[in-house]
Amino acid sequence: MNSKAVATPKRTKEILEKYGFSFKKSLGQNFLIDVNILKNIIEHAGIDKQAGAIEIGPGIGALTQQLAEHAGKVVAFEIDQRLLPILEDTLSEYDHVEIINMDILKADVKQVMEEHFSKDQPVKVVANLPYYITTPILMNLLMARLPVDSITVMIQKEVAERMAAGPNTKSYGSLSIAVQYYTEAEIAMHVPKTVFMPQPNVDSAVLHLKMRANPPVQVEDEDFFFDLVKAAFGQRRKTLSNNLSRHFKDRMDKQEIQKLLEAAGIDPIRRGESLSMEEFAVLARQFSPK
Ligand code: SAM
Repeated sequence: MNSKAVATPKRTKEILEKYGFSFKKSLGQNFLIDVNILKNIIEHAGIDKQAGAIEIGPGIGALTQQLAEHAGKVVAFEIDQRLLPILEDTLSEYDHVEIINMDILKADVKQVMEEHFSKDQPVKVVANLPYYITTPILMNLLMARLPVDSITVMIQKEVAERMAAGPNTKSYGSLSIAVQYYTEAEIAMHVPKTVFMPQPNVDSAVLHLKMRANPPVQVEDEDFFFDLVKAAFGQRRKTLSNNLSRHFKDRMDKQEIQKLLEAAGIDPIRRGESLSMEEFAVLARQFSPK
């Protein structure tokens, strides 16, 4: 057991000073300085000695160290080369941690998983994400259908709320559908700004995404489905019929749109935000050109 936790204000300051490290705002560098929060994250992620963990953005190793204490193997992607010697130092006692100096948006994560984890090992993604690219990172991981059990991430509170939202709420939108098509999403906890160094301007939350074995709805053409969902939410104040008329204006007129909506059993004056994922799937089948 490591007695010198990285994630305390004192130790973090010591490490930063020792290496003359200065934060790069453009890389979303807000390091965690609270061990209890980290332990909570690990617990929500369900990490144990059998599990493999993938981390995105280890920073100076605050979360990486806790993952190393609890997981069978840890692989972490870090874009900032300046952090490599620091991580080598803070994680020196763990030989089951691999740091990969790479932009996560450019990495072939599936390939890396094949190289570093055993075939039957359950793998979980756990990270305090760089907030400027939260959505592209998560959507890339989901759309690649990575063979992971779950994704547990610290992200901006509003984004977490949008990803986990259900119909008829302020946060519900095409991002909720996109994320919940692949996962069961829930907010595990809200996190105050004070547990970061430096403190971010926004509030944070830990989002837990449990991968689904199969999508919750049957969709023939996923691209068409997601385009239609986006169009339905296009202008929030407008009715479904108005938003879809605009989207399909080259293919059909308003009357046809009304007919298709009625055939789908959906009142044309409803708004996108009132539709469940199941209703969007029915719409996609009804509007499909095939
Ligand atoms: N895990 C550390 C912690 O909790 O203290 C640091 C988290 S900090 C919010 C985000 C980290 O992601 C930084 O270390 C940053 O350099 C790294 N990062 C930013 N963009 C990245 C990218 N495209 N690929 C990989 N890492 C990235």
